[in-house]
Amino acid sequence: MVNMSRFTHSYDLGEAVALYHSLRMKPVYLSKDAFRSLQAWLASSFCDKIENAPGEILVEVQELVKFKILTQTEDEDEKVLAFVRSKIPAPAVNVCYMIMSEQCNLACKYCFLGNNDCEKRSNFLLENMSTETADKAIDFFIRQIKASGMDHADNKPVLIFYGGEPMVNFRVLEHTAARVNELRKEEPCIRNIEMSMVTNGLLLDESKVRRLHELGVAIAISIDGFTEEANSMRVDIAGKPVFSRILDKLNMCKAVGVDVSLSVTLSEETIKNTKDILNLVDTYGVKAFGFNIMMSSDTFVLPQSYNEAAAQFIIDEFIELRERGIYEDRMMRKLKSFSKAQVYFSDCAATTGGQIVIAPNGQVGICHGCLHNKQYFVAHIDDDDFVAAEDKNFIEWAQLSPVNHEECMDCPALGICGGGCPVNAMHLKPGNTIHSIDERFCVHSKKTLEFFIRDLYRIITQEESAQPN
Ligand code: SF4
Ligand code: SF4
Repeated sequence: MVNMSRFTHSYDLGEAVALYHSLRMKPVYLSKDAFRSLQAWLASSFCDKIENAPGEILVEVQELVKFKILTQTEDEDEKVLAFVRSKIPAPAVNVCYMIMSEQCNLACKYCFLGNNDCEKRSNFLLENMSTETADKAIDFFIRQIKASGMDHADNKPVLIFYGGEPMVNFRVLEHTAARVNELRKEEPCIRNIEMSMVTNGLLLDESKVRRLHELGVAIAISIDGFTEEANSMRVDIAGKPVFSRILDKLNMCKAVGVDVSLSVTLSEETIKNTKDILNLVDTYGVKAFGFNIMMSSDTFVLPQSYNEAAAQFIIDEFIELRERGIYEDRMMRKLKSFSKAQVYFSDCAATTGGQIVIAPNGQVGICHGCLHNKQYFVAHIDDDDFVAAEDKNFIEWAQLSPVNHEECMDCPALGICGGGCPVNAMHLKPGNTIHSIDERFCVHSKKTLEFFIRDLYRIITQEESAQPN
């Protein structure tokens, strides 16, 4: 019997219908007439074999079978799912967040690390990372890379200096980056290591920017939007706004000739206007962006409407920015998966089991979102025998893909989603765990998929109409 796969979803495009298998990920576009004929044939008693499809839709039916949208056997869906699950990568550490300090010079009102919360803030370590700990941390990271089987010259590991605010410990950061550059000459597995720092920017000055550039440390400055108003939640410990000071820093980086990227937390105010970002691009020459959807917490609750509006904002900005040859990270990761028709298992390095986080005191964890209580901090840099790839916690996190979630099986975005943030999911409702769904993220994934399917159809039909008759 020929049937519609359980993973097939349809999108009404006006004069056409898109049929899409959430794991095979190749949309097939049918005219409305062809779609009606297909439905009639599937409802008839003649749909036992593809060869019996009506002549006028035989080619389409073959295409639909090729992309698994139509199944020919009862167990075909289960086989596809089992195949996809078998491809979930095993944990393999290749990303390291080094927490130079858990202290921060700001107290943003939504901070997911807990800097806006006196109780969580009081849990943060007062001591910054020392040079001795930083040296051992790098050795630990290299050991994990090697133990993960990534000991080869093509490997591209990532080291991210993070906080709190990493710049409060600039001396050790500088020492660490210089040591990494020394070690890359003798350790093939870190020859191509990429270093970056996520900072609020306030402690940058000309000499530090130049030094970071010289050391090969890329600078990502976090902001909440592109106006003073949009940044009203980004305040220093005294509660004073900092946006104008950040703009001064962007000006300074531009004058020094060092490109910076922006890590933009999408505040409710930011997503009201898509034009301000273009002003920022023009004024400061920013060429790279990453958008962060805000998380709710015990002390910061977002309205339901926020998720929908933030998802739409990311799409609208994607359309505007691509005109200028600028591509935002979050959309690009999904677009890559969609255009290559490759299932995207995880949208964060922690849920690939590929990330370690090293606290200033040498404790080793999985996610920096758990710094305030050190949940899932399961090792220490002095544990010579620890292998993250064999640790049960890392293995558990590496399986947190939507393709393993029963609740996700009927979701059209299953293949491009990668899941949200398990830490956010854990805090969404009482009783939740890292295995719960980060619903905030679902709206973004589903809307993005629909946008890709419609946008591809627009491109195809435009190309067709541009063909000479
Ligand atoms: S689990 Fe959440 S907070 Fe942790 S790294 Fe992933 S996305 Fe970030
Ligand atoms: S996490 Fe949400 S969007 Fe992603 S696959 Fe599951 S239900 Fe769909």
